[in-house]
Amino acid sequence: MGEDQNDTRRVVIRVAGVVQGVGFRPFVYGVANELGLSGYVGNDARGVFIVAQGVPDVVDDFIDRVWIGPTLAHVDSVTVENAPTVDDDDGFAIVASLSRIGSTSIPPDTAVCADCLTEMRDPIDRRYAYPFIACTNCGPRYTIVTGLPYDRPYTTMVDFPMCELCQQEYDDPTSRRFHAQPTACPVCGPSLNVEVASVVQALRDGLLVAIKGIGGYHLACDAKNPVAVKRLRDRKCRGDKPFALMVSNLDVAHQIVLLDEGAEVVLQSSARPIVLAPSLDPVLQSSVAPGNSNLGVMLPSAPLNHLLFDAGAPDVLVMTSGNLSGEPICIDEREATRRLSTVAELFVHHNRRIHVACDDSVLRAGSGPAQAIRRSRGYAPLPFPLKFETPNLLAVGGELKNTICVASGRQAWVSQHIGDTENIETFLMLERTVATLSELQSVEPAAIVSDANPAYHTRRWAEREAERRGIAHLTVQHHHAHLASLLVEQDWPTDRAVLAFAFDGTGFGTDGSIWGGEMLLGSYDAVQRVGHLKVVPLPGGDAAIRRPLRSALAHLWAAEVDAREIPTIVAKTQPNELSVISRMLATGTGCTATSSVGRLFDAVASLLDVRHDVDYEGQAAVELEALASSARSIAFEDARMWAPRLARDADGLILDPEPTIVATVAAARAGMSKAVAARLFHEGLASAIADAAVALRNLTGVTTVGLTGGVFVNSLLSAACRAKLQRNNFTVLTHERIPPNDGGLALGQIAVAATGGAKVAS
Ligand SMILES: [Zn+2]
Ligand SMILES: [Zn+2]
Ligand SMILES: [Zn+2]
Repeated sequence: MGEDQNDTRRVVIRVAGVVQGVGFRPFVYGVANELGLSGYVGNDARGVFIVAQGVPDVVDDFIDRVWIGPTLAHVDSVTVENAPTVDDDDGFAIVASLSRIGSTSIPPDTAVCADCLTEMRDPIDRRYAYPFIACTNCGPRYTIVTGLPYDRPYTTMVDFPMCELCQQEYDDPTSRRFHAQPTACPVCGPSLNVEVASVVQALRDGLLVAIKGIGGYHLACDAKNPVAVKRLRDRKCRGDKPFALMVSNLDVAHQIVLLDEGAEVVLQSSARPIVLAPSLDPVLQSSVAPGNSNLGVMLPSAPLNHLLFDAGAPDVLVMTSGNLSGEPICIDEREATRRLSTVAELFVHHNRRIHVACDDSVLRAGSGPAQAIRRSRGYAPLPFPLKFETPNLLAVGGELKNTICVASGRQAWVSQHIGDTENIETFLMLERTVATLSELQSVEPAAIVSDANPAYHTRRWAEREAERRGIAHLTVQHHHAHLASLLVEQDWPTDRAVLAFAFDGTGFGTDGSIWGGEMLLGSYDAVQRVGHLKVVPLPGGDAAIRRPLRSALAHLWAAEVDAREIPTIVAKTQPNELSVISRMLATGTGCTATSSVGRLFDAVASLLDVRHDVDYEGQAAVELEALASSARSIAFEDARMWAPRLARDADGLILDPEPTIVATVAAARAGMSKAVAARLFHEGLASAIADAAVALRNLTGVTTVGLTGGVFVNSLLSAACRAKLQRNNFTVLTHERIPPNDGGLALGQIAVAATGGAKVAS
């Protein structure tokens, strides 16, 4: 035993969370030295362990600072135990990693930091103009990790043995590159196949350039060159789908989009997501995001992005995922050259392997907190804490905008965006992601959870895979998963029921019909369907999803309005289409019953002659929202006439959109401005939601409302609902960190399954 217990305290500290690969050990080393403590710090399977000894007050200060951690760390817990003091303890040291098997979280990729940028722009620095500069505070992480613990041999940096100078920095606890796995320099590290100057010239010449980035290839071109943008659109088979933009700096961003303070913060965050914000540049918008009111903008994140702008690249670039429509982002040179050969006119490759493909994240700024639309690079695979214990589980999400999720203990790790799994290439990415994420988080699943929809590829895969592994296959109802994902991200307790409006395009219901306008009462473990949008027969199922005009015909039929008396509808139908569809509707042949709110948006968009066919999922709703946002002023009392009517049947509360359809037809006939009509439709729907919530509160006493499902990506509708519900004294839960769309399903499936709400698949 050492000195008097009162003068000296020795503690063993364990830190869990995102604590490896973020410079935690050098951080601890620095603080310990500053405070004059002795002891050591190391990594093991459970995170960071620290043994520290010193004056008791100072040890307390030390523990407080450990809680804060370095910039990129996310500390979940710090546990402290006292230990007998030691006499001959001298100085503070960093010890080697102890184990390969780990359960700590891998950090996401991070934009180049200010210190690295300064070095990169300093002509006498040895990393001057080096596109792969990185340090312990920045650079790739998740995309280069091949195993645990997060150490150079288990990253793709293993391909680049360090030169003497890099090794010195890597070994020096006082260096910003101490144990920074992406550490490299022009002598020993990765390199580009093309000079930066030639890339800049190509962009200025209006060429389409494929650029290998952090999480995959981007396709880039001068956004203000409409000919180049059009060529990119045509070659990518993109239809009218909007392109994301990368701007050289915040000032340029301010010239093209309206950014409030919150949006600015998100835009400049180290995750560097694409931020959707109202467009200020109609010319640019009509070329890169036709029919939208927003532009998706991001700031440079990889060092190469900065080098391009520094060297004179056009200050607004289209920067879209390097893939063909529907396929996942390309990550390796051979694949990119093959798949993008018909698109790109110049390829910028580098030789740092990308192990995990990771698309850019998309957030929506606006009133209230920013909302995730696509959670991927910069965020994945940060874990979500759970309010309950979960067995080891794997959830495979939905069919479109897919993500997967693994969970264990009280944490769930949601993958990066995978995409639309109807495509075989995307499906292979799903399989790879399952393998990677399970390994990195050491989750050997005891069951696989999927959506209940028997037509989903993900469900069929879950069934086969569970059988192969000899484990259970569980299913979760689509809209219950949406609600549960919202509850997890809002850290909602397990014992308080919520009333949810789960509105989307398509989700398989427990009665075998297609749901999408659901009112659910319940929590993680169980829900009751207490109401829904009135069911209409949708002629031709999937064909109707691509053709909003069919939704219009379905809703006209249900509202008993004769489609033949509406000139725009007659003008837009093919010969015979009207009579064929009318027959289908009258007999029910070839029709799918649906309560989808997404299809109601389609119907209104078509009736207002905004859009009759779509190029991408949700396009009609996006354009309707854009129009509605442009409405100068409306008479809010008129919105009442547009609200679906509240009724009751055996299923509970029914929202009957008959008045909405009648009002839409009347507006079109009267030549009302489309913007005003679209706005009245939004306001009317929000009123109906608020009225339904009040009616259900009277029945159940539940005072918290959750808004979830892809329809609530619509920020105008979300804001209107939130305002009306709050005016009626409801607590309102909306999505922030996990998307309201099907990108959130996997997390929700985990939560439902972990709390016993999933069904054993049969
Ligand atoms: Zn850095
Ligand atoms: Zn080097
Ligand atoms: Zn959905």
